[in-house]
Amino acid sequence: MNYKEALQHPVFKIISQSAKELQLDAYVIGGFVRDFILKRGTAKDIDVVAIGDGIKLAKQVAKNLHNKPKVQVFKTYGTAMLRHDDIEIEFVGARKESYTEDSRNPAVENGSLADDQNRRDFTINALALNLSEAHFGDLLDPFNGIQDLDDKIIRTPLDPDVTYSDDPLRMLRAIRFATQLHFTIEKQSLDAISRNSERIKIITNERIITEINKILETEKPSIGFLLLEQTGLLKYILPEITALKGIDEVEGQRHKDNFYHTLEVVDNIAENTDNLWLRWAALLHDIGKAPTKKFSKKVGWTFHAHEFEGSKMVYHLFKRLKMPLNDKMKFVQKMVFMSSRPIVLAQDIVTDSAVRRLVFDAGDYVEDLMTLCEADITTKNPKKFNKYHNNFKIVREKIDEVEARDHVRNFQPPISGEEIIATFNLKPSREIGIIKEAIKEAILEGEIPNEYEAAYQLMLEKGKKLGLTPAES
Ligand code: ATP
Repeated sequence: MNYKEALQHPVFKIISQSAKELQLDAYVIGGFVRDFILKRGTAKDIDVVAIGDGIKLAKQVAKNLHNKPKVQVFKTYGTAMLRHDDIEIEFVGARKESYTEDSRNPAVENGSLADDQNRRDFTINALALNLSEAHFGDLLDPFNGIQDLDDKIIRTPLDPDVTYSDDPLRMLRAIRFATQLHFTIEKQSLDAISRNSERIKIITNERIITEINKILETEKPSIGFLLLEQTGLLKYILPEITALKGIDEVEGQRHKDNFYHTLEVVDNIAENTDNLWLRWAALLHDIGKAPTKKFSKKVGWTFHAHEFEGSKMVYHLFKRLKMPLNDKMKFVQKMVFMSSRPIVLAQDIVTDSAVRRLVFDAGDYVEDLMTLCEADITTKNPKKFNKYHNNFKIVREKIDEVEARDHVRNFQPPISGEEIIATFNLKPSREIGIIKEAIKEAILEGEIPNEYEAAYQLMLEKGKKLGLTPAES
């Protein structure tokens, strides 16, 4: 392979020139090189290592670029960043690191390129391309990273126990890369992750969630979650999910393994949506099943009100992991809370009023809810599978039909509270609520259309039954 091809962008020549002016060596390293070789498209993030002062190099490059971009300096890390076109270039001086027990932030001193490659997480992330004029485009691959790319293997440059214990975030990165690239984590490395899994406790929740999100955003997230479970990491991060594991049997009655079922649902939904929060909803849709599981002789296994329990757990889980407690969290809660609603429809004859209620309750999220519920069909019985999917097709058609006719998606009552007060000359009282509810129910049941005139008549009727008389107009 001609690695010069990776360096076609004119900015590389400018970095090379700038390095020469400062009389230091510079290399492109890490993800950019890896992704070029894997043909994953040209990466927009470029990491440059200088054997010397990285910040100085960044400033020199900025000076030599015609548009003179701003250099952002991160003093604490000894790094600098600049944006050129749509590319983000990060500069760092080559460094040697030494770690302490309780932190993933090492003591740092200046080092050689080899020192810098040693501190990289994986052999495939330690590949470097020379930017010096005389050796422009030469590959430096001290750990056979190219071979590992070919063999699709994740391996650490040094003893994996040291690499993972030094910075436990790397355990998640290994699993994330394995999931994104469909690579295998080398056995020694995988064993080391299992041995060091408890050390994930020193990593901040924000960083953990960044990696979990990246796993969820892949084409087949189950690969990552199975590895997280297998290595013992998942129980520290998402114990709600590991609690779904296992099948109980009482008097010959078994329930399905909700852990594996959940992973299937997540893979299914990944085929149909890139919405990260909908994927989270798929991951969490059954978490209420662990605490609500019961067996009774009469009905066998039940998970009574698990959707309600699950939606409450979503809040605690988001809070614990320092995830946003905003509309995204509320969306996931709503999806979990409503996750069985369309399923019930799909098993039965689909009536207009049931669909109207579904649209009313789900509002703008009804499409997302349908996507979730379709992904939830994991039955291995082809007859049932087809039946449920067909019924969902009918539900989707009816949603459009009912919506076009009745507009209940963002329901606004056709008669307002004020109008009820004015009509019967009322003071604020419970009668107003009763009449409003009766109108809403009648619309959802299809007894009256969602129109002013019909609602007005019903208001008069209900008022009469409540002993109210319309005020003289
Ligand atoms: P992606 O952009 O898909 O996350 P990447 O490999 O570019 O992939 P970055 O997080 O941008 O990931 O890291 C850039 C490079 O820095 C990596 O390729 C790797 O060489 C090194 N690196 C990043 N994080 C670590 C870490 N925790 N330990 C050791 N080296 C790391």
